[in-house]
Amino acid sequence: MIDYGAKPTMMTKREFLKLGLALATKGRLTNWAGNFEFSTSRVLEAADADQVRAVVLAQPKLKVLGTRHCFNRIADSPDALLSLKSMGDAVSLDPQARRVTVNAPTTYGHLCPYLDGKGFALHNLASLPHISIAGSCSTGTHGSGERNGNLSTAISALEFLTAGGDTLTLSRQKDGETFRGAVVGLGALGVITRVTLDIQPAYQMRQYVYEDLPLAQVRDHFDAIESSAYSVSLFTDWQRQRMSEVWLKCRREDGAAFDGPPEFFGARRASRNLHPIAELSAENCTAQMGVPGPWYERLPHFRMGFTPSAGKELQSEYFVPRRHAIEAILAVERLRDQITPLLMITEIRAIAADDLWMSPCYQRPSVAIHFTWKQDWPAVSKVLPAIERELGPFQPRPHWGKLFTVKPAALKAAYERLPDFVQLANRLDPKGKFRNEFLNTNIFGA
Ligand SMILES: Cc1cc2nc3c(=O)[nH]c(=O)nc-3n(C[C@H](O)[C@H](O)[C@H](O)COP(=O)(O)OP(=O)(O)OC[C@H]3O[C@@H](n4cnc5c(N)ncnc54)[C@H](O)[C@@H]3O)c2cc1C
Repeated sequence: MIDYGAKPTMMTKREFLKLGLALATKGRLTNWAGNFEFSTSRVLEAADADQVRAVVLAQPKLKVLGTRHCFNRIADSPDALLSLKSMGDAVSLDPQARRVTVNAPTTYGHLCPYLDGKGFALHNLASLPHISIAGSCSTGTHGSGERNGNLSTAISALEFLTAGGDTLTLSRQKDGETFRGAVVGLGALGVITRVTLDIQPAYQMRQYVYEDLPLAQVRDHFDAIESSAYSVSLFTDWQRQRMSEVWLKCRREDGAAFDGPPEFFGARRASRNLHPIAELSAENCTAQMGVPGPWYERLPHFRMGFTPSAGKELQSEYFVPRRHAIEAILAVERLRDQITPLLMITEIRAIAADDLWMSPCYQRPSVAIHFTWKQDWPAVSKVLPAIERELGPFQPRPHWGKLFTVKPAALKAAYERLPDFVQLANRLDPKGKFRNEFLNTNIFGA
């Protein structure tokens, strides 16, 4: 981590573009899971705001890369990609205001130990810390916990470079609706260069895993199960009428409420660390068995420095209103014999409502039903419409970074602020510099 005092090295536009083009990658560029190849391998690099501006002004079409963990083509471009990796992890901490400002490409995995060392924490994390803060927040990435908003809800300010090369700073305090429209920006509004996040005092957590929670208990006690810990994840392969694992992450101050009894709604406490996909080694996973540890080593399921999840996989996820959680879970369960042969694991999580226009949890306390699939798109693409049909009555909102087949008109109906978002994008990027096929189909064609 470095501090913002350091003066950036200035380069002429000409020097920079020469360098940028020289940095174009050779060979294939794929996303993290390797399920698709980007349509260009021309990756330009920018190390500071001036270099970003030079690229933005020079390129008629451009997409910014985070850590490439999306499963769909939301970050793709046939023209040019921009990597901000060489900006580094500059950070500026304001302990009094309880805020931290980071360069956009910073990953949670790099920020969290730094924050913890200074006595601070974030409110939540996704299942993995490897992802960039800007890229995660641009798609509404979330963790778990019925009282926890998604990761984007921690953003209090954003700095962008717009299509015209202007710096635009938006804050929760000053910019009201425009800010709420821009936070989950899907990469369509400009290049995010810095992000400011709310922080809180560092805390300790304990994680317990339980095996074989009967589906009947989920049906009859869903609210009690979801409120039993700070973060609750239910894992299932949809077979044998049960959740194969339940992961409960408890803040130590909640310790009096949950202390890891041997039984939890008929599920039994695991006697060893587990991976959500039981066949895989738990070495990649954060510590369980009630061992206390810092927040950033318990909130994610997967450890920094290890491969998260399975690796060669696909993912899909649908958010439904919390009040329909049980009906939605039972609707998907009816498709078990179509789903399980293609599935590695499902995870079910509750997330608090927020007011960010393109967030899957916009004004809806939500339950997210996630699928980690085997990497077989021809087969998975056939089962997704069936799942989407079963969830249809609950107006499912798909995760923006995962695979779905929901039609643009249904997206528009489910994401009610989509027309406002289109207007905002038209204002900030009138010529569509930051649009690509994914956005043209799902957002601008909707
Ligand atoms: C193993 C695994 C586990 C996952 N677990 C979870 C989970 O627990 N919860 C969850 O919600 N999701 C999860 N995801 C999905 C993941 O969090 C999202 O796909 C996230 O957006 C990835 O961030 P990224 O940095 O890789 O972004 P990328 O995929 O690189 O980009 C995402 C979008 O952000 C834009 N973008 C990136 N940086 C900038 C910038 N500086 N300025 C403007 N736009 C930018 C891109 O153009 C693109 O539109 C998981 C994914 C994987 C692979």
